[in-house]
Amino acid sequence: MRDFTFAKYRELCRAISDSDYKVLTVEEYLNSNSNKSKFIILRHDVDLKPERSLIAAEIENEFEIRSTYYIRMTDEVFQPEIIKGIAELGHEIGYHYEVLDKAKGDFAKAIEIFKRELNELRKLCEIKTICMHGNSRTKWDNKDLWKLYDFRELGMLGEAYLSVDLENIVYFSDTARTWSPRYKVKDLARNPENPIINSTDDLIELIKSEEFHQIYILMHPDDWCDDFGKWLTNLVTRKFKNVAKYTLGWYWRNFSNNKNG
Ligand SMILES: [Zn+2]
Repeated sequence: MRDFTFAKYRELCRAISDSDYKVLTVEEYLNSNSNKSKFIILRHDVDLKPERSLIAAEIENEFEIRSTYYIRMTDEVFQPEIIKGIAELGHEIGYHYEVLDKAKGDFAKAIEIFKRELNELRKLCEIKTICMHGNSRTKWDNKDLWKLYDFRELGMLGEAYLSVDLENIVYFSDTARTWSPRYKVKDLARNPENPIINSTDDLIELIKSEEFHQIYILMHPDDWCDDFGKWLTNLVTRKFKNVAKYTLGWYWRNFSNNKNG
């Protein structure tokens, strides 16, 4: 079976569900007394294609798994009906900020953008945690914002990199569509005992072995594809008719204008 398909993701969710691990959202991790327990923090960054995150959210829901989805405030990603759909499945929604990039390194401007975008996202659901977006084409590290400001003062419990004990938790990320650390620049594990894995099957085996008690997984649904293209479209249009209507309306307005003008 090909890797990075939703069928493979379902296998991963089944392995997690069959294990003794408790899956935590980032908010639950920050609120829990997690020192001794056996858990997996499951986090998703929604960088480009929110409809794929909705698929992952549905799959997790089948296995009664709740995770965290970090939403970028861009036209592609900020689709309220889809975001609300993910939240209604019981998942945590967080803010995937990139405000130093947007403000071109101007901290004062960046914090204003942060407050504005956070408020926009808060209109849809409660936001308690944030996570920086790592843009490989800019020179800023978005989480540097917190060298000058304090996210707690803005009502945030924590930041998905800064507030997690990455020295002691084993960390796996599918950044760049690979679990192997070889191609990663910024997104690296910091625990010296972190094992190297190369495939989702490796991750499934590692979870089944239950060798490590505290695991942090970052999965980008954007990079996982559907074996059944039609199923994806059907699901989105069936469950989120409003989105379909909106898109259709936009299409209609633009194309009829073009025809007329
Ligand atoms: Zn990102």
